[in-house]
Amino acid sequence: MREDNCIFCKIANGEIPSKTLYEDDKFRVILDLGPATKGHALILPKDHYADLLELPEESAGDVMKLAKKMVLKFKEKLGCEGFNLVQNNGDLAGQTVFHFHLHLIPRYRADGQTIGWKPQEVSGEELEEIKNQIVG
Ligand code: 5GP
Ligand code: ZN
Repeated sequence: MREDNCIFCKIANGEIPSKTLYEDDKFRVILDLGPATKGHALILPKDHYADLLELPEESAGDVMKLAKKMVLKFKEKLGCEGFNLVQNNGDLAGQTVFHFHLHLIPRYRADGQTIGWKPQEVSGEELEEIKNQIVG
């Protein structure tokens, strides 16, 4: 299933050229055009799913297996010392292309990037309340 106006559908299915690192019948892994670091790549399913919630469970498992394979290659070939997996869902969360993708971001000493959040203060009572709201 592809969506006509989706750029990642076109890239994943080879209609638009990309720097492809890996391809099989379900996925393509490409270099990001606006990389955070050297080797920043995206895992794209060839079928169109807007986000993680639309991605079938089996594909979600396959994505993590593929991520592991790719970051091992980055360690071996690029010498990165760590990596971040980033996956944005929804525009509020920073998603700009609404075709599921997992960012693979190799990390190097002093690479100048920060991927994170500002920790907030929270009490034990508040944590308990939140826990109950989610699972209570
Ligand atoms: P998001 O913000 O949706 O999580 O990430 C979208 C990512 O896609 C960004 O890192 C952006 O640089 C990358 N990107 C957007 N358009 C293209 C494109 O046409 N080709 C490639 N290779 N990457 C793209
Ligand atoms: Zn798509």
